[in-house]
Amino acid sequence: MSLVLNDIIPQLQAEFFGNHSDAIISNVSIDSRSFQNNNQTLFFCLIGPNNNGHTFINELIEKGVSNFVVSEQIELKENVNFLKVENTLVALQQFAIFYRKKFSIPVIGITGSNGKTIVKEWLNFLLSPDYNIIKSPKSFNSQVGVPLSVIGINEQHNLGIFEAGISTVNEMQKLEPIVQPTIGILTNIGSAHDEGFENLCQKIKEKLKLFQNVSVLIYNKNKSIDAFLSPEINTFSWSENDKNADVLIHHKTTNNQTTLNITYQNTCFKLNIPFSDDASIENVIHCVMVLFYFKYDVDTIQNRIALLYPIEMRLKVKKGINNTTLIDDSYSSDFQSLKIALDFLENQKMHSKKTLILSDIFQSGLANDELYSRVSQMVIANKIGRVIGIGETISNYKNKFLNGITFKTQADFLSHFDTLNFENETILIKGARNFHFEEIVSLLEEKTHETVLEINLNAITHNLNFYKAKLKPETKIMVMVKAFGYGNGGFEIAKLLEYHKVDYLGVAFADEGIALKNNGIQLPIMVLNPETTSFDAIIQHQLEPEIYSLRGLNSFLKIAKQKFLKDFPIHIKFDTGMHRLGFEEEHLEELIAVLKSTKTVKVKSILSHMATSDDLQHKEFGLLQIERFEKLSNRLIEELDYKPICHLLNTSGISNFPQAQMDMVRLGIGLYGISNDTSEQKYLETVGTLKSIISQIRTIQKGESVGYGRRFMATQETKIATIPIGYADGIRRSWGNGIGYVTINNQKATIVGSVCMDMLMVDVTSIPCVEGNQVIILGENPSVNFMAEKLNTIPYEILTGISQRVKRIFYRE
Ligand SMILES: *Cc1c(COP(=O)(O)O)cnc(C)c1O
Repeated sequence: MSLVLNDIIPQLQAEFFGNHSDAIISNVSIDSRSFQNNNQTLFFCLIGPNNNGHTFINELIEKGVSNFVVSEQIELKENVNFLKVENTLVALQQFAIFYRKKFSIPVIGITGSNGKTIVKEWLNFLLSPDYNIIKSPKSFNSQVGVPLSVIGINEQHNLGIFEAGISTVNEMQKLEPIVQPTIGILTNIGSAHDEGFENLCQKIKEKLKLFQNVSVLIYNKNKSIDAFLSPEINTFSWSENDKNADVLIHHKTTNNQTTLNITYQNTCFKLNIPFSDDASIENVIHCVMVLFYFKYDVDTIQNRIALLYPIEMRLKVKKGINNTTLIDDSYSSDFQSLKIALDFLENQKMHSKKTLILSDIFQSGLANDELYSRVSQMVIANKIGRVIGIGETISNYKNKFLNGITFKTQADFLSHFDTLNFENETILIKGARNFHFEEIVSLLEEKTHETVLEINLNAITHNLNFYKAKLKPETKIMVMVKAFGYGNGGFEIAKLLEYHKVDYLGVAFADEGIALKNNGIQLPIMVLNPETTSFDAIIQHQLEPEIYSLRGLNSFLKIAKQKFLKDFPIHIKFDTGMHRLGFEEEHLEELIAVLKSTKTVKVKSILSHMATSDDLQHKEFGLLQIERFEKLSNRLIEELDYKPICHLLNTSGISNFPQAQMDMVRLGIGLYGISNDTSEQKYLETVGTLKSIISQIRTIQKGESVGYGRRFMATQETKIATIPIGYADGIRRSWGNGIGYVTINNQKATIVGSVCMDMLMVDVTSIPCVEGNQVIILGENPSVNFMAEKLNTIPYEILTGISQRVKRIFYRE
């Protein structure tokens, strides 16, 4: 991209403030953290529910950015150009429309309820031998993601593949002119994301707006869609049963293979595809339709389809050998996604040492010399200490990289593996599919057993924002990360929360806080239950103790005085009815006297905890606690010459007692995707998914039994799968013997017999599956709530009971 501000200003109907309207723009950014921001960046200050781009302007100017699109009142600066607009998101979209018009290449536009990203990635793979393709990175399909994707087009591209996703009405009409698709694909219309639409008709109509100017629409023929299609639209349809479709397809699945029997232009032929689930079959068919439309012959189609692979759509963060952290992006290596991965690497901030393992890059649309120069600039900007290149081409450009090491082949790399000394660093592994970098990942990955708890960091962000939206803008948030983040991983979550600028973290014991501080967490941390023996460590690590008794206060003061501390932050807890920890009213005056007589500590906040915030049957009691808290805290504040932060509400308090938000709330279980209120639950996203695999499958005959004590007896021939997870991992024995189930290939498999220490057995008689298949133990289905209810306990106990030997993997979508 090379544009001049002068040309951009009228496109955005912007008011210009600055001296250099002739400034050259070579890239666009919305992310203040990106190391790719520079003096040719046009930075759009977007305003989101949680972040406002305008607040980063000064920081960005210091980093050399000098062109901003803004909508708020800003302080003008010398040598900085501001384009003032009504709405910065609209301006970004206008910019993308303007930019897109400069290219007249064919563009495939994909929308639908499911499968958009997979169809896009597969088409990219299938068509890449013949085209220089620009595609949306990952699942960039939103009002922001689509413009950013389109802005990646350059002169060398001769085909675009972009996906567009919408969540409510009037969104698609904004995306259509940005994508300007010439070929449309409607993957399907399911019930996903229905909240934003009044009904199915409205949703279909909205989605179809993407296709108003296409030369052809590819879709699965279907009466409810046909009803809304304008007669002008040229279609190319397929169907399993409607003879009016252009292509008739029947499929037959055996084991892990599916055969498509296709009738097209009066000829019949077969295609074999390496998938057996319905969703993948549908996605492959859409790809095949595009290949037909592009007039590929059947042999070529068969050859390419046979190589399709399941798509890893996300960057996975994994624990590596020798205290390394791996960012696994081993399935793609294009320029766009490299940029994203490098930004992700930066945000991870795990280790200061960083290594990039990179394969040859394809389809950049740039000549190799320029491509690798640009990669090298990015690598330098992102402070990557070493680059390990693998591939013929990148080897030829070794001299572009400082500290570059290159290997012509993966085998060559593997034979030198031991000399490369991977340790105490973050390693980004990024390779084109045919380099099979998953082998490198598996070599670098710390080996544990096959059961993992996957934590969706996006879901945590979503849930945080859900509760934030319930708060007054000035209410602060403390997030409870006690008990290893309710079993979800303490440090990684704390890091994310720090990024999202929550105000406080809360832990139960000093050790938990120390671990966070030692890993570089800078947020203030309150310790709920500081033992007297840990006061020294608390002070040393700048943790902030909750003080709940005179005994605790006096012994803390004694230690703090010896260290000559002044104004050390402490938190005073009152007991207002929970009767667990806290000062009672009768000790209030003595507490006040002690606090007034010392400058050693300062009351940072005053808190209490509710006993029944989740149960509206006890609403009266909740109100009583609020009243008592107000009385006690007001009395204390009266006597202090400063105003501490007051806080009372936990997650269900936030939902049920919004009037008592005070200065801060303490969010716990809600962050991890669990609500005590079923109507609220549907707005939260599942954070943790406990997964395992099938170790072994066997068939037993009628009359045979399974497991200890022969508690399951087969009444017919039964297929049994063994899964390596047991009560030592946190799966209760009471979940066995027909009570609980796991999910395999989207179907319920009941647990038969008793849960063992490290294993359990399930009935898979009617489920197509093989050894090695994935098993969902806990997540969307069965959910933590469901399991808790069946086992007569609460979700808290289930979550925190998942044992520490289960490896945690964190990912973002
Ligand atoms: C655990 C805890 C919370 C958070 O409770 P949730 O119900 O998980 O939101 C808040 N305050 C205190 C004192 C706690 O111990």
